[in-house]
Amino acid sequence: MKTESQAARRSRIYRIRTLGGLRREVEGCTACPRLREYCSEVARKKRAAYREQEYWGAPVPSFGDENARILLMGLAPGAHGSNRTGRMFTGDASGNFLYAALHRVGLASQAEAIDRNDGMRLRDVYISAVGRCAPPGNKPLPQELTRCLPFQAREFSLLPRLKVVVCLGKIAFDWTWKTLEEHGVVLGSPRPRFAHNAVYTLGGAFPTVLASYHPSQQNTQTGRFTAPMIDEVLARAKELAAL
Ligand code: SF4
Repeated sequence: MKTESQAARRSRIYRIRTLGGLRREVEGCTACPRLREYCSEVARKKRAAYREQEYWGAPVPSFGDENARILLMGLAPGAHGSNRTGRMFTGDASGNFLYAALHRVGLASQAEAIDRNDGMRLRDVYISAVGRCAPPGNKPLPQELTRCLPFQAREFSLLPRLKVVVCLGKIAFDWTWKTLEEHGVVLGSPRPRFAHNAVYTLGGAFPTVLASYHPSQQNTQTGRFTAPMIDEVLARAKELAAL
């Protein structure tokens, strides 16, 4: 069978006209054999606590309000979180922290995110990630993030009211800039540096970039990233998006 070149794949993704079409393309993506194999293996073996559940085990599509002014950009699905439930940030400690905060600031209909049929509705927020397949050790390879990049780039174009991108963690921050470069943003040297709460305003039609720590357990359980801190980030995002 003839393999599609990266250029042909990219151009095909750039021609997708709806967010629904893009989500379907993500779900069927097989571009990274290492990640596809890992996600399937995790889904087959399962964690003991979820033995009775059917894991999603596929690339995880973005989720939320298609008219969102705020885009939350994470790193990648968790092996037993989104890779199990099939919805961004759903089913693990990071997601519990994030959705509870979104609910507190009025951007989510409920505080608890359990699975993709739990009735969660987001208002003015769309949730995505720079990698859409769970990576071993939570560490996607640069070439895997490069393959996922066209999805983000197209997503930026298909969110008609996008005003602010909140980057959750340094990797999401760095790859958001690469996405913006795809859209014609020219970065000087040095490149923008990650710092919690830093805001970068680009002007024109480009969204504002807001950096935040990632809500990983490593940050939330150590007190590095607390509930008042994420509330402050989200309040800032609302303000920047004129909500
Ligand atoms: S990480 Fe992205 S590009 Fe790679 S297989 Fe998953 S969805 Fe496709």
